[in-house]
Amino acid sequence: MTTGGRLSPDRYPTEFVAALTEHGWLAALIPERYGGSGLGIGAASAILEEVCASGCNAGACHAQMYTMGTILRHGSDEQKAEYLPRIAAGELRLQAFAVTEPDAGSDPTRIKTRARQVEGGWVVDGQKIWTSRAEHSDLMVLLARTTPADEVEKRTDGLSVFLVDLRDRGSQLTIKPIATMMNHAPTEVFFDGLELPAAALIGERGRGFR
Ligand SMILES: Cc1cc2nc3c(=O)[nH]c(=O)nc-3n(C[C@H](O)[C@H](O)[C@H](O)COP(=O)(O)OP(=O)(O)OC[C@H]3O[C@@H](n4cnc5c(N)ncnc54)[C@H](O)[C@@H]3O)c2cc1C
Repeated sequence: MTTGGRLSPDRYPTEFVAALTEHGWLAALIPERYGGSGLGIGAASAILEEVCASGCNAGACHAQMYTMGTILRHGSDEQKAEYLPRIAAGELRLQAFAVTEPDAGSDPTRIKTRARQVEGGWVVDGQKIWTSRAEHSDLMVLLARTTPADEVEKRTDGLSVFLVDLRDRGSQLTIKPIATMMNHAPTEVFFDGLELPAAALIGERGRGFR
């Protein structure tokens, strides 16, 4: 959408993010063995600083840099081999993470989204809000409660992290855009019995907060 020949300020800058991806800038933090540049956080910050200093908004693209860190640090060897090279090559976009809920922002231990373990996988019910870029991502990192808060010793226990494929979604997963005056496309995400395979769990069950 344009306004008087200019890009609308709330339109997600798909072409800009694709160009940054194509030239490898968003793979800065991915180790070289997985096809990234293997740079440190200082270099990644300088890249995003330059984006902002040039009059653009790094909020449209920064999460493609760092969200993969959850897989890099806590994923299995199979998950790393499956996802990291394709994220580095720009074939897969992992730039959405769903933590915040209507009643849980600053304190994520209050989240109510629940993942129940069933034979062969998980079933997720609940709602997230302010999930940026969910409509512009292939994959999303999700924080959900796998043990109810009143059954754990510490509220930080019993939370788990999942990798959700957003590409092939039916009625179990609904994404609704939230109109804002910024261009990183925040959304509400609704889970209505979303089935996930066992392999969607990243890291240890119940240790997702850490
Ligand atoms: C544009 C946008 C994009 C976002 N993108 C994402 C995303 O991609 N994924 C995601 O998961 N979330 C996202 N968020 C959510 C964001 O992380 C939350 O808004 C944030 O965690 C604050 O939560 P809240 O809005 O519920 O505010 P609240 O937690 O209700 O806080 C409201 C106010 O109270 C203060 N406050 C809260 N607790 C305390 C306390 N104990 N002591 C003193 N003061 C306190 C806060 O500092 C704040 O000023 C996004 C938000 C926005 C606005």
